[in-house]
Amino acid sequence: MATDTKKTLKTYWKWIDKKKNKINDYYHKTTTKIVEKYDIIILEDLNIKGMFQNPRYSPKLQKISWKKFVEMIKYKAEIYGKIFRQISRWYPSSKTCNNCGYYNKDLKYETEWKCPQCQKIHDRDINAAKNILKQGLTDLTDEKMNLWSRGDSTVILLSWESISP
Ligand SMILES: [Zn+2]
Repeated sequence: MATDTKKTLKTYWKWIDKKKNKINDYYHKTTTKIVEKYDIIILEDLNIKGMFQNPRYSPKLQKISWKKFVEMIKYKAEIYGKIFRQISRWYPSSKTCNNCGYYNKDLKYETEWKCPQCQKIHDRDINAAKNILKQGLTDLTDEKMNLWSRGDSTVILLSWESISP
């Protein structure tokens, strides 16, 4: 291999390493902040493999590691004594109206939709986040988890798209 090529490759790998470190650092900072701030953290268990096959998601997904991010939240929650749960990936969080429970089977990729039953206008992601929280709290109640001391629940939208550094 020519020296020049070697040099270029070395610079390239250095650049990749730097980028990886930067992302790792960002994940660490963000997950620590979340775990310190919130007592109950509920996330969706995403079907990442399936999403990779979807051309709408795939290019964005390649830049982030949702799995790594979730793992960090999971182990940090344990260290900090916080509750962490993931709800089933089969739960229709986007298609369910968080206000009346209507199941909108016709919803495709729309970012905003109006519930035909209660007329409420939803931001797709916020509606999903509210449903995820609701389902997570139901799961915890089913586990007989005592949630009374945990205060009010706050919904923060943490989608895999929003954690991209
Ligand atoms: Zn509704």
